Amino acid sequence: SNFAEVGLAEALLKSLNEAGYEQMTPVQASSLPLMLGGDDVVVQAQTGSGKTATFALAILAKLDVTEFAPQALVLCPTRELAEQVAESIRKLAKNMANVKVLTLCGGVPTRIQIASLEHGAHILVGTPGRVLDHLNQNRLNFAKLQTLVLDEADRMLEMGFQDELRAIVAKTPSTRQNLLFSATYPNSIKQLSQQVSKQAQLLKV
Ligand code: AMP
Repeated sequence: SNFAEVGLAEALLKSLNEAGYEQMTPVQASSLPLMLGGDDVVVQAQTGSGKTATFALAILAKLDVTEFAPQALVLCPTRELAEQVAESIRKLAKNMANVKVLTLCGGVPTRIQIASLEHGAHILVGTPGRVLDHLNQNRLNFAKLQTLVLDEADRMLEMGFQDELRAIVAKTPSTRQNLLFSATYPNSIKQLSQQVSKQAQLLKV
């Protein structure tokens, strides 16, 4: 199947073309139509499956660039992954006007992030501990948040981020769309996905 058939905007099709993505990967073909339709989705998918572009497209397809407030939050287990995810989103957003993607990760001085947050962002990508810090200090406003992505959720649980994830989710609007990605699907992930969304569709690709 092809990206043009799922109704993506011209700007996204242009970025996909420039990235050399001609055909959807199996993860994209099975989950993108559901995500673009607004469903909550839990995807069991490995690194290398094209999962990052999948949620990047789901986020960007419904982003309102004129609304300069965080509309999407992507939580990742590590700073390294968060930086890669932010880069992938920027690459796909480059033919859209001025989409601001900000990373919020531990290991980076907080005061630098505070300055960046004051400038605003459409999309936040971060690690759970640092995102929760900013939330608890009232530096983040999730009133306009439309999409929550948990990337490599199994690794986040392995790293002990369960309580942080729960606390962050509790501070997001209940109207959000939930997208959860995990390489494995143990009971702990089943429970987490239940906490995040009762009506998520499960895709094992
Ligand atoms: P990921 O699973 O998100 O780590 O992506 C693995 C690699 O696949 C990345 O280098 C992407 O740039 C690439 N990729 C994602 N979607 C596609 C696609 N539809 N066609 C070709 N490459 C892709």
